[in-house]
Amino acid sequence: MHLNRTAVLAASFFLSACSTPAPRAPDSPARPQAVVIVSIDAFRAGYLSPRTTPNLARIAREGAQADWMNPSYPSLTFPNHYTLATGLRPDRHGIIHNRMNDADIGDFAVADRGAVDDGRWWGGEPIWVTAEKQGVRSASWAWPGSSAAIGGVRPSQWVAYDEKVPPARRVDDVLAWLDAPPAQRPRLISMYFEQLDKAGHDYGPDSPQVRETLARLDAVIGRLYDGLASRGLLDRVDLVVVSDHGMAEVGPGHAIGVDTMIDPSIASVVSDGQSIGVSPKPGREREAERRLLGTHAQYDCWKRGALPAHWHYGTNPRVPPIVCQMHEGWDALYPAKLAKRPPHATRGSHGYDPALPSMRALFVARGPSFVPGARLAPFDNVDVYPLLAYLLGLEPAPNDGDLTPLLPALRPSR
Ligand code: AMP
Ligand code: ZN
Ligand code: ZN
Repeated sequence: MHLNRTAVLAASFFLSACSTPAPRAPDSPARPQAVVIVSIDAFRAGYLSPRTTPNLARIAREGAQADWMNPSYPSLTFPNHYTLATGLRPDRHGIIHNRMNDADIGDFAVADRGAVDDGRWWGGEPIWVTAEKQGVRSASWAWPGSSAAIGGVRPSQWVAYDEKVPPARRVDDVLAWLDAPPAQRPRLISMYFEQLDKAGHDYGPDSPQVRETLARLDAVIGRLYDGLASRGLLDRVDLVVVSDHGMAEVGPGHAIGVDTMIDPSIASVVSDGQSIGVSPKPGREREAERRLLGTHAQYDCWKRGALPAHWHYGTNPRVPPIVCQMHEGWDALYPAKLAKRPPHATRGSHGYDPALPSMRALFVARGPSFVPGARLAPFDNVDVYPLLAYLLGLEPAPNDGDLTPLLPALRPSR
């Protein structure tokens, strides 16, 4: 049958008007062979630049970049990595802090391997469990949570967190996973780098050590890019690079003892740092509230049910009865830690209000699913889970995220 140009145009208009939600573009790429998500802990959105991070800038140029991504409250590592993985706010997934207590399970700390690997702490459904349950193989190089059996499920392949393994070796491990025969090859890979977080804490976000570590990790991202290129995978693998939060400068002496906030006989401090959890002793509740609630020189405190609504925090029973939030650039530490802190050093911290520019996180992505050169307005990190589910063609578990802010970066439906 011969169709003239007008008829073809009319037919394509009719088709696109009828098909929901988006017309299938005839030249659209196939579903990616794999999705690789990389986290660079404490990569502040503002660190990205063509001069200091040329490899990340190339990914942004060839793919999509958000002006920044908003971390969830509290802007700490474990809560936010697990929000990225589940699309749930920390209040809903249960990793409400790096350090917490649960009436039934006991204490959680990131340095406690037994707790970190105990699936009872980890609520909701991380993307690797969504994938495995739907027959998609996953692998993880130490993404927080990936070494626990969550709902009885772990990634098909996982590597326990080990900071002695250099970043380049981690990339080589990931590339080796992609080299496996199709039946063993993971379609979802997550990986994690902690080195920038450490440099940021020890020397501050504007330090030469942070610049040096940025350059080193950017080169490692370049190694991953080159590894994909040499395998002919650049147009088959969606590569997403994110961070969990940024980093703020903590000037010399900008630390107080938690014992100056509340006397230990009145309340115990469940977590120190920037988001301070306080649990009054039985019978001392009113005293603790009188002493703490409201605004102070370096912090503000609320009852757990009265925290600012945009933090979406305080309904989880693991959140202590009183939460104090340090102002930007201030730490509150247990006395023993405060005594060890050098008084004259500039340092860095995160854990501050997620709305602060210093806490803004990184989001760049390239690959067959992404529009080259797309620039996205800032979005919340709960939106990453629905993105990953979409890229992999998975039915997402219930979550707090929304794919809508990311649609301008996505090619028409495949
Ligand atoms: P923070 O800066 O307190 O939010 O925590 C970040 C630190 O958590 C990193 O510098 C790592 O040393 C540590 N970390 C990251 N992943 C893991 C893990 N899977 N197990 C134990 N510690 C981890
Ligand atoms: Zn972190
Ligand atoms: Zn950190």
